[in-house]
Amino acid sequence: MNLILLGPPGAGKGTQAKKIAVKFDLPHISTGDMFRETAQSGSELGKQLQGYMSAGKLVPDDVVIAVVRQRLSSDDAKKGFLLDGFPRTLAQAQALDKALAGDGKKIDGVISLTVDADEVVRRLSSRRVCVACGASYNLISNPAKKEDVCDACGGKVIQRADDNAATIRNRLEVYREQTSPLIEYYSSAGVVREIDGMQPVEEVFKKICAVIK
Ligand code: AMP
Repeated sequence: MNLILLGPPGAGKGTQAKKIAVKFDLPHISTGDMFRETAQSGSELGKQLQGYMSAGKLVPDDVVIAVVRQRLSSDDAKKGFLLDGFPRTLAQAQALDKALAGDGKKIDGVISLTVDADEVVRRLSSRRVCVACGASYNLISNPAKKEDVCDACGGKVIQRADDNAATIRNRLEVYREQTSPLIEYYSSAGVVREIDGMQPVEEVFKKICAVIK
C-alpha cells in the first residue's frame, strides 16, 4: 500500500502519519523530518536546507526528489510506504509517479486533510515538538505534562524555527500556490479521499483508518 498524506502545514499530517504507520505497519517518510535531521548535522547541505525551511520556502525539487528516491529504495519501503510532506509540487508528483512506474508500482491512495487557514495559524503558533523523538504537542490543546519536557522520552520540547507568524504565512501561500494543485492531479487518478482535519485527532484517525481499509 503506497499512500500520501496531503494537506496544508498544521493539518495534522505528522500526528496522523505516526499513528497510521504503527497501525498499518508502513514506514513513515517525512521529508520535513529528514531535512530537519540533516540541518541539525550542521553540514553545508544542512545549512542550505535550514535556510529554505526558516524562510518557509520549498527546498528545490531536484534535491527533494533525489532524497526521496533514495529513501524509497530502502528495503523497508518495498512493502509500501506513507509519504508525509512529499510531494509538494507538480514536478515532485510526476517524478514520484515515474520512479514508481519504473518498479511497476503506483500511488494507491492520497488522504487529503482539510483545515481552514485561521485554524492552521492557531495550531502552528502554539505547536511545540520534541527535538529528540519528534513527538508533537500543542500549548493549548495538548501541552506536555511538564513544561518543555517530552512526556514520551524526556527530550527537550521546543518551538520549530519555522512556526512563527511570518513564516507560517509564507508556508500557507506556498501550499496554496504549489501544493494544493496536487489534489486535482491525483483526483484524475481517482485516488483522493478528503477528510475533515478540523475534528479531534482520534476522530480524524478513525476516518482515515476506515478509508484505508
Ligand atoms: P514540514 O515538516 O513537512 O512542514 O516541512 C518543513 C519544511 O521542509 C518545509 O517548509 C520546506 O522548507 C521543507 N520541505 C519539506 N518537504 C518538502 C518538499 N517535499 N519539497 C520542498 N520542501 C520541503
